[in-house]
Amino acid sequence: MQDTLRSAWVEINLDNLAFNIQKVREKVGPEKTVIGVVKADAYGHGAVPAAKTLLENGADALAVATLSEGIELRKAGFTCEIVILGLTASRYGTVLVEYDLTPVVASVDNAYAFSRAAAAANKFMPVYAAVDTGMGRIGFLPDQRGAEMVAKIAKLGNVNLKGVFSHFATADEADKTFAKEQIKKFDDFCKLLESIGIDPGVKTFANSGAIMEVPEGHYDAVRPGIMLYGCYPSNEVDRDALELKPVMSVKAELTQVKKVPAGTPISYGRTFVTERESFIGTVPVGYADGMPRAISGKGGRVIINGVYAPIVGRVCMDQFLVDVTDVPDVFAGDEVIIVGTDGENTILAEEIGALADTISYEICCGFGQRLPKVYTDNEEDEWDF
Ligand SMILES: *Cc1c(COP(=O)(O)O)cnc(C)c1O
Repeated sequence: MQDTLRSAWVEINLDNLAFNIQKVREKVGPEKTVIGVVKADAYGHGAVPAAKTLLENGADALAVATLSEGIELRKAGFTCEIVILGLTASRYGTVLVEYDLTPVVASVDNAYAFSRAAAAANKFMPVYAAVDTGMGRIGFLPDQRGAEMVAKIAKLGNVNLKGVFSHFATADEADKTFAKEQIKKFDDFCKLLESIGIDPGVKTFANSGAIMEVPEGHYDAVRPGIMLYGCYPSNEVDRDALELKPVMSVKAELTQVKKVPAGTPISYGRTFVTERESFIGTVPVGYADGMPRAISGKGGRVIINGVYAPIVGRVCMDQFLVDVTDVPDVFAGDEVIIVGTDGENTILAEEIGALADTISYEICCGFGQRLPKVYTDNEEDEWDF
Protein backbone atom coordinates (compact mmCIF):
# COMPACT_ATOMS: atom_id res chain seq x y z
CA MET A 1 0.00 0.00 0.00
CA GLN A 2 1.96 2.96 -1.23
CA ASP A 3 -0.14 6.07 -1.00
CA THR A 4 -2.38 5.62 2.02
CA LEU A 5 0.42 6.52 4.45
CA ARG A 6 -0.73 3.74 6.66
CA SER A 7 -0.19 -0.01 6.89
CA ALA A 8 -3.91 -0.65 7.22
CA TRP A 9 -6.69 -0.18 4.72
CA VAL A 10 -10.15 -1.15 3.54
CA GLU A 11 -10.62 -2.69 0.10
CA ILE A 12 -13.94 -2.11 -1.65
CA ASN A 13 -14.65 -4.52 -4.49
CA LEU A 14 -16.95 -2.62 -6.83
CA ASP A 15 -17.48 -5.69 -9.05
CA ASN A 16 -19.05 -7.43 -6.08
CA LEU A 17 -21.23 -4.38 -5.38
CA ALA A 18 -22.37 -4.51 -9.01
CA PHE A 19 -23.06 -8.24 -8.65
CA ASN A 20 -25.21 -7.66 -5.57
CA ILE A 21 -27.35 -4.89 -7.08
CA GLN A 22 -27.89 -7.10 -10.11
CA LYS A 23 -29.08 -9.85 -7.73
CA VAL A 24 -31.54 -7.41 -6.16
CA ARG A 25 -32.81 -6.45 -9.61
CA GLU A 26 -33.25 -10.13 -10.54
CA LYS A 27 -35.06 -10.78 -7.29
CA VAL A 28 -37.61 -7.95 -7.56
CA GLY A 29 -38.04 -7.98 -11.35
CA PRO A 30 -37.70 -5.27 -13.97
CA GLU A 31 -40.85 -3.32 -13.05
CA LYS A 32 -39.87 -2.20 -9.56
CA THR A 33 -37.99 0.94 -8.70
CA VAL A 34 -34.79 0.08 -6.85
CA ILE A 35 -33.67 2.76 -4.41
CA GLY A 36 -30.07 1.98 -3.43
CA VAL A 37 -29.51 2.90 0.20
CA VAL A 38 -26.14 4.64 0.56
CA LYS A 39 -26.61 6.23 3.97
CA ALA A 40 -23.70 6.40 6.42
CA ASP A 41 -21.22 6.71 3.54
CA ALA A 42 -22.74 3.60 1.93
CA TYR A 43 -22.44 1.61 5.16
CA GLY A 44 -18.76 2.56 5.29
CA HIS A 45 -18.01 1.69 1.66
CA GLY A 46 -17.81 5.27 0.32
CA ALA A 47 -21.05 6.87 -0.85
CA VAL A 48 -19.90 8.36 -4.15
CA PRO A 49 -18.18 5.34 -5.72
CA ALA A 50 -20.90 3.05 -4.33
CA ALA A 51 -23.69 5.23 -5.74
CA LYS A 52 -22.00 5.33 -9.14
CA THR A 53 -21.66 1.55 -9.28
CA LEU A 54 -25.24 1.01 -8.09
CA LEU A 55 -26.74 3.37 -10.67
CA GLU A 56 -24.68 1.79 -13.46
CA ASN A 57 -25.88 -1.66 -12.52
CA GLY A 58 -29.59 -1.45 -11.97
CA ALA A 59 -30.49 1.06 -9.24
CA ASP A 60 -32.94 3.81 -10.23
CA ALA A 61 -32.60 6.12 -7.25
CA LEU A 62 -30.61 6.62 -4.05
CA ALA A 63 -31.48 7.03 -0.40
CA VAL A 64 -29.48 8.54 2.44
CA ALA A 65 -30.20 9.25 6.10
CA THR A 66 -29.36 12.92 6.35
CA LEU A 67 -29.43 16.14 4.42
CA SER A 68 -25.65 16.46 4.27
CA GLU A 69 -25.36 12.97 2.84
CA GLY A 70 -27.80 13.99 0.12
CA ILE A 71 -25.89 17.19 -0.61
CA GLU A 72 -22.64 15.23 -0.91
CA LEU A 73 -24.19 13.12 -3.67
CA ARG A 74 -25.64 16.12 -5.51
CA LYS A 75 -22.28 17.88 -5.36
CA ALA A 76 -20.72 14.75 -6.84
CA GLY A 77 -23.04 15.19 -9.81
CA PHE A 78 -25.77 12.60 -9.32
CA THR A 79 -29.06 13.71 -10.87
CA CYS A 80 -31.35 10.81 -9.89
CA GLU A 81 -33.95 10.99 -7.14
CA ILE A 82 -32.29 11.14 -3.71
CA VAL A 83 -34.56 10.31 -0.78
CA ILE A 84 -33.70 11.44 2.75
CA LEU A 85 -34.88 8.54 4.90
CA GLY A 86 -34.77 10.37 8.22
CA LEU A 87 -36.96 13.35 9.02
CA THR A 88 -35.63 16.76 8.03
CA ALA A 89 -36.26 19.83 10.21
CA SER A 90 -38.55 22.47 8.71
CA ARG A 91 -35.78 25.08 8.74
CA TYR A 92 -33.89 23.13 6.08
CA GLY A 93 -36.70 23.39 3.53
CA THR A 94 -34.72 25.81 1.38
CA VAL A 95 -31.76 23.42 1.40
CA LEU A 96 -33.98 20.55 0.23
CA VAL A 97 -35.24 22.78 -2.56
CA GLU A 98 -31.79 23.99 -3.53
CA TYR A 99 -30.42 20.45 -3.88
CA ASP A 100 -33.61 18.89 -5.20
CA LEU A 101 -33.76 16.26 -2.46
CA THR A 102 -36.86 14.23 -1.61
CA PRO A 103 -37.79 14.23 2.08
CA VAL A 104 -39.91 11.83 4.06
CA VAL A 105 -42.49 13.68 6.17
CA ALA A 106 -44.43 12.69 9.27
CA SER A 107 -46.06 16.01 10.16
CA VAL A 108 -48.31 18.45 8.35
CA ASP A 109 -46.39 21.45 9.75
CA ASN A 110 -43.15 20.04 8.39
CA ALA A 111 -44.69 19.47 4.95
CA TYR A 112 -46.23 22.93 5.06
CA ALA A 113 -42.80 24.49 5.71
CA PHE A 114 -41.38 22.55 2.77
CA SER A 115 -44.25 23.71 0.57
CA ARG A 116 -43.50 27.32 1.50
CA ALA A 117 -39.81 26.84 0.75
CA ALA A 118 -40.64 25.31 -2.63
CA ALA A 119 -43.13 28.06 -3.42
CA ALA A 120 -40.49 30.69 -2.67
CA ALA A 121 -38.30 29.11 -5.35
CA ASN A 122 -41.20 28.58 -7.73
CA LYS A 123 -40.77 24.83 -7.49
CA PHE A 124 -42.66 21.74 -6.41
CA MET A 125 -41.12 19.39 -3.89
CA PRO A 126 -41.83 15.64 -4.01
CA VAL A 127 -42.36 14.11 -0.56
CA TYR A 128 -43.05 10.67 0.82
CA ALA A 129 -45.48 10.41 3.73
CA ALA A 130 -44.13 8.04 6.37
CA VAL A 131 -46.59 5.67 7.96
CA ASP A 132 -45.65 3.84 11.13
CA THR A 133 -47.02 0.33 10.70
CA GLY A 134 -45.01 -1.21 13.53
CA MET A 135 -41.42 0.04 13.58
CA GLY A 136 -42.39 2.75 16.08
CA ARG A 137 -39.79 5.10 14.62
CA ILE A 138 -41.15 7.71 12.21
CA GLY A 139 -44.49 8.19 10.53
CA PHE A 140 -48.19 8.84 10.95
CA LEU A 141 -50.15 6.15 12.72
CA PRO A 142 -52.14 4.20 10.14
CA ASP A 143 -55.55 5.38 11.36
CA GLN A 144 -58.27 7.82 10.26
CA ARG A 145 -56.45 10.80 11.76
CA GLY A 146 -53.21 9.76 10.02
CA ALA A 147 -55.05 9.52 6.72
CA GLU A 148 -56.56 12.97 7.19
CA MET A 149 -53.12 14.44 7.79
CA VAL A 150 -51.68 12.77 4.71
CA ALA A 151 -54.66 14.19 2.80
CA LYS A 152 -53.75 17.67 4.05
CA ILE A 153 -50.20 17.19 2.81
CA ALA A 154 -51.43 16.00 -0.57
CA LYS A 155 -53.40 19.23 -0.92
CA LEU A 156 -50.55 21.62 -0.07
CA GLY A 157 -49.71 24.00 -2.88
CA ASN A 158 -46.04 23.24 -3.59
CA VAL A 159 -45.42 19.72 -2.36
CA ASN A 160 -46.38 16.69 -4.41
CA LEU A 161 -47.26 13.58 -2.46
CA LYS A 162 -44.96 11.27 -4.35
CA GLY A 163 -45.78 8.19 -2.32
CA VAL A 164 -46.18 6.49 1.01
CA PHE A 165 -43.35 4.96 2.95
CA SER A 166 -43.08 2.44 5.75
CA HIS A 167 -40.36 0.28 7.30
CA PHE A 168 -40.23 -3.31 8.53
CA ALA A 169 -39.11 -4.09 12.08
CA THR A 170 -38.68 -7.85 11.71
CA ALA A 171 -38.53 -8.77 8.01
CA ASP A 172 -35.19 -10.53 8.58
CA GLU A 173 -36.57 -12.81 11.29
CA ALA A 174 -37.66 -16.36 10.50
CA ASP A 175 -41.15 -15.69 11.84
CA LYS A 176 -42.91 -13.41 9.35
CA THR A 177 -46.10 -12.95 11.39
CA PHE A 178 -45.35 -9.38 12.45
CA ALA A 179 -44.09 -8.38 8.99
CA LYS A 180 -47.43 -9.56 7.60
CA GLU A 181 -49.31 -7.56 10.23
CA GLN A 182 -47.36 -4.49 9.13
CA ILE A 183 -48.32 -5.18 5.51
CA LYS A 184 -51.98 -5.48 6.46
CA LYS A 185 -51.86 -2.12 8.26
CA PHE A 186 -50.13 -0.54 5.27
CA ASP A 187 -52.66 -1.91 2.79
CA ASP A 188 -55.58 -0.82 4.96
CA PHE A 189 -54.07 2.63 5.29
CA CYS A 190 -53.57 2.97 1.54
CA LYS A 191 -57.21 1.94 1.02
CA LEU A 192 -58.28 4.49 3.59
CA LEU A 193 -56.38 7.16 1.67
CA GLU A 194 -58.09 6.12 -1.56
CA SER A 195 -61.48 6.18 0.14
CA ILE A 196 -60.97 9.86 0.96
CA GLY A 197 -59.80 10.61 -2.55
CA ILE A 198 -56.03 10.54 -2.05
CA ASP A 199 -53.82 8.55 -4.43
CA PRO A 200 -51.09 6.94 -2.29
CA GLY A 201 -48.71 7.06 -5.26
CA VAL A 202 -45.43 5.15 -5.09
CA LYS A 203 -45.55 2.61 -2.26
CA THR A 204 -42.16 1.84 -0.73
CA PHE A 205 -41.63 -0.51 2.19
CA ALA A 206 -39.00 -3.23 1.70
CA ASN A 207 -35.51 -3.30 3.23
CA SER A 208 -33.06 -6.17 2.55
CA GLY A 209 -34.89 -8.65 4.77
CA ALA A 210 -38.20 -8.04 2.99
CA ILE A 211 -36.58 -8.03 -0.46
CA MET A 212 -35.22 -11.49 0.31
CA GLU A 213 -38.18 -13.03 2.07
CA VAL A 214 -41.37 -10.95 2.03
CA PRO A 215 -42.26 -10.59 -1.68
CA GLU A 216 -45.72 -9.18 -0.93
CA GLY A 217 -43.88 -6.28 0.72
CA HIS A 218 -42.02 -5.23 -2.41
CA TYR A 219 -44.77 -2.85 -3.67
CA ASP A 220 -43.53 -0.22 -6.17
CA ALA A 221 -40.08 0.72 -4.89
CA VAL A 222 -37.66 -1.34 -2.76
CA ARG A 223 -34.89 0.02 -0.56
CA PRO A 224 -31.99 -2.43 -0.28
CA GLY A 225 -29.12 -1.51 2.03
CA ILE A 226 -26.96 -4.16 3.71
CA MET A 227 -27.50 -6.80 1.01
CA LEU A 228 -25.89 -4.50 -1.56
CA TYR A 229 -22.72 -4.67 0.49
CA GLY A 230 -22.77 -8.46 0.49
CA CYS A 231 -23.93 -9.06 4.05
CA TYR A 232 -27.13 -10.90 4.88
CA PRO A 233 -29.51 -8.88 7.05
CA SER A 234 -29.51 -11.57 9.75
CA ASN A 235 -28.65 -15.19 10.46
CA GLU A 236 -32.30 -16.16 10.11
CA VAL A 237 -32.64 -15.47 6.37
CA ASP A 238 -32.07 -18.23 3.84
CA ARG A 239 -28.60 -17.50 2.48
CA ASP A 240 -28.85 -20.19 -0.16
CA ALA A 241 -31.85 -18.46 -1.74
CA LEU A 242 -29.79 -15.49 -2.94
CA GLU A 243 -26.06 -15.31 -3.55
CA LEU A 244 -24.36 -12.14 -2.35
CA LYS A 245 -20.67 -11.29 -2.46
CA PRO A 246 -18.98 -9.35 0.37
CA VAL A 247 -17.78 -5.97 -0.88
CA MET A 248 -15.55 -4.81 1.98
CA SER A 249 -12.28 -6.36 3.07
CA VAL A 250 -10.15 -4.99 5.88
CA LYS A 251 -6.42 -5.55 5.71
CA ALA A 252 -3.22 -4.46 7.41
CA GLU A 253 0.46 -5.29 7.63
CA LEU A 254 2.00 -6.57 10.83
CA THR A 255 4.04 -3.70 12.23
CA GLN A 256 6.03 -5.90 14.61
CA VAL A 257 6.54 -9.58 15.38
CA LYS A 258 8.15 -10.33 18.69
CA LYS A 259 9.24 -13.52 20.46
CA VAL A 260 8.22 -13.44 24.12
CA PRO A 261 8.60 -15.97 26.95
CA ALA A 262 5.74 -17.87 28.60
CA GLY A 263 4.02 -15.72 31.22
CA THR A 264 4.10 -12.48 29.19
CA PRO A 265 0.99 -10.32 29.67
CA ILE A 266 -0.52 -8.83 26.50
CA SER A 267 -2.26 -5.45 26.18
CA TYR A 268 -4.26 -3.31 28.63
CA GLY A 269 -5.41 -5.00 31.78
CA ARG A 270 -3.19 -8.06 31.17
CA THR A 271 -6.29 -10.11 30.36
CA PHE A 272 -4.19 -12.49 28.23
CA VAL A 273 -0.93 -14.02 29.41
CA THR A 274 1.13 -16.27 27.12
CA GLU A 275 1.16 -19.89 28.23
CA ARG A 276 4.17 -20.82 26.13
CA GLU A 277 7.03 -19.09 24.42
CA SER A 278 5.11 -17.16 21.76
CA PHE A 279 5.39 -14.94 18.76
CA ILE A 280 3.09 -11.94 19.14
CA GLY A 281 2.22 -9.82 16.11
CA THR A 282 1.06 -6.21 16.22
CA VAL A 283 -1.78 -5.18 13.90
CA PRO A 284 -2.10 -1.41 13.37
CA VAL A 285 -5.91 -1.30 13.56
CA GLY A 286 -7.96 -0.49 16.65
CA TYR A 287 -11.39 0.41 17.83
CA ALA A 288 -11.04 3.92 16.39
CA ASP A 289 -10.80 2.15 13.03
CA GLY A 290 -13.89 0.06 13.67
CA MET A 291 -12.39 -3.07 15.24
CA PRO A 292 -14.80 -3.44 18.15
CA ARG A 293 -13.19 -3.43 21.58
CA ALA A 294 -16.00 -5.73 22.66
CA ILE A 295 -14.35 -8.51 20.64
CA SER A 296 -11.49 -8.66 23.18
CA GLY A 297 -11.22 -12.12 24.71
CA LYS A 298 -14.10 -13.47 22.62
CA GLY A 299 -12.13 -15.75 20.31
CA GLY A 300 -11.68 -13.44 17.34
CA ARG A 301 -9.15 -14.26 14.66
CA VAL A 302 -7.37 -12.91 11.58
CA ILE A 303 -5.85 -14.61 8.55
CA ILE A 304 -2.06 -14.46 8.02
CA ASN A 305 -0.02 -16.51 5.53
CA GLY A 306 -2.88 -18.89 4.84
CA VAL A 307 -3.88 -19.69 8.40
CA TYR A 308 -6.05 -18.24 11.14
CA ALA A 309 -4.28 -16.54 14.04
CA PRO A 310 -6.10 -15.71 17.30
CA ILE A 311 -6.57 -12.16 18.53
CA VAL A 312 -5.13 -11.90 22.04
CA GLY A 313 -5.66 -9.34 24.79
CA ARG A 314 -7.74 -6.20 24.58
CA VAL A 315 -8.22 -4.28 21.36
CA CYS A 316 -6.65 -0.82 21.80
CA MET A 317 -7.68 2.42 20.07
CA ASP A 318 -5.25 2.03 17.16
CA GLN A 319 -3.70 -1.44 17.47
CA PHE A 320 -4.43 -4.98 18.50
CA LEU A 321 -2.29 -8.09 19.04
CA VAL A 322 -2.38 -11.54 17.51
CA ASP A 323 -0.71 -14.79 18.53
CA VAL A 324 1.28 -15.78 15.44
CA THR A 325 3.22 -18.63 17.04
CA ASP A 326 1.56 -21.16 14.72
CA VAL A 327 1.71 -19.02 11.58
CA PRO A 328 4.35 -20.21 9.09
CA ASP A 329 7.23 -17.89 8.13
CA VAL A 330 5.78 -14.85 9.79
CA PHE A 331 7.51 -11.47 9.68
CA ALA A 332 6.70 -7.83 10.23
CA GLY A 333 5.21 -6.53 6.99
CA ASP A 334 3.13 -9.67 6.34
CA GLU A 335 -0.44 -9.07 5.29
CA VAL A 336 -3.19 -9.53 7.86
CA ILE A 337 -6.76 -10.13 6.71
CA ILE A 338 -9.15 -8.82 9.36
CA VAL A 339 -12.25 -9.08 7.16
CA GLY A 340 -12.08 -10.88 3.84
CA THR A 341 -10.74 -14.03 2.29
CA ASP A 342 -7.45 -15.46 1.02
CA GLY A 343 -9.37 -17.91 -1.15
CA GLU A 344 -9.25 -20.70 1.47
CA ASN A 345 -10.01 -18.97 4.75
CA THR A 346 -12.69 -16.34 5.20
CA ILE A 347 -13.70 -13.91 7.91
CA LEU A 348 -17.02 -12.13 7.37
CA ALA A 349 -18.14 -8.86 8.96
CA GLU A 350 -20.95 -11.00 10.38
CA GLU A 351 -18.41 -13.08 12.35
CA ILE A 352 -16.91 -10.01 13.99
CA GLY A 353 -20.40 -8.66 14.61
CA ALA A 354 -21.48 -11.86 16.33
CA LEU A 355 -18.38 -11.92 18.56
CA ALA A 356 -18.90 -8.28 19.49
CA ASP A 357 -22.61 -8.84 20.13
CA THR A 358 -23.67 -6.59 17.26
CA ILE A 359 -24.55 -6.81 13.57
CA SER A 360 -22.55 -6.65 10.35
CA TYR A 361 -24.10 -3.23 9.63
CA GLU A 362 -22.29 -1.68 12.58
CA ILE A 363 -19.02 -3.46 11.76
CA CYS A 364 -19.02 -2.13 8.15
CA CYS A 365 -19.92 1.40 9.25
CA GLY A 366 -17.12 1.27 11.82
CA PHE A 367 -14.39 0.13 9.44
CA GLY A 368 -15.48 2.83 7.00
CA GLN A 369 -14.60 5.64 9.40
CA ARG A 370 -10.85 6.18 9.53
CA LEU A 371 -9.11 3.55 7.42
CA PRO A 372 -8.08 4.61 3.92
CA LYS A 373 -10.20 3.02 1.20
CA VAL A 374 -8.84 1.32 -1.88
CA TYR A 375 -11.26 0.49 -4.68
CA THR A 376 -10.68 -2.78 -6.49
CA ASP A 377 -12.38 -5.08 -8.95
CA ASN A 378 -12.04 -8.77 -9.68
CA GLU A 379 -9.07 -8.18 -11.98
CA GLU A 380 -7.28 -7.01 -8.84
CA ASP A 381 -6.67 -3.60 -10.35
CA GLU A 382 -6.67 -0.97 -7.68
CA TRP A 383 -7.48 2.64 -7.98
CA ASP A 384 -8.24 5.52 -5.69
CA PHE A 385 -11.21 7.82 -5.74
C1 LIG B 1 -31.44 1.66 6.39
C2 LIG B 1 -32.77 1.63 5.81
C3 LIG B 1 -33.07 0.77 4.75
C4 LIG B 1 -32.12 -0.32 4.30
O1 LIG B 1 -32.16 -1.36 5.26
P1 LIG B 1 -31.26 -2.68 5.10
O2 LIG B 1 -31.70 -3.56 6.21
O3 LIG B 1 -29.86 -2.26 5.21
O4 LIG B 1 -31.59 -3.23 3.76
C5 LIG B 1 -34.30 0.89 4.14
N1 LIG B 1 -35.20 1.81 4.57
C6 LIG B 1 -34.96 2.63 5.61
C7 LIG B 1 -35.99 3.60 6.05
C8 LIG B 1 -33.75 2.56 6.28
O5 LIG B 1 -33.52 3.38 7.32
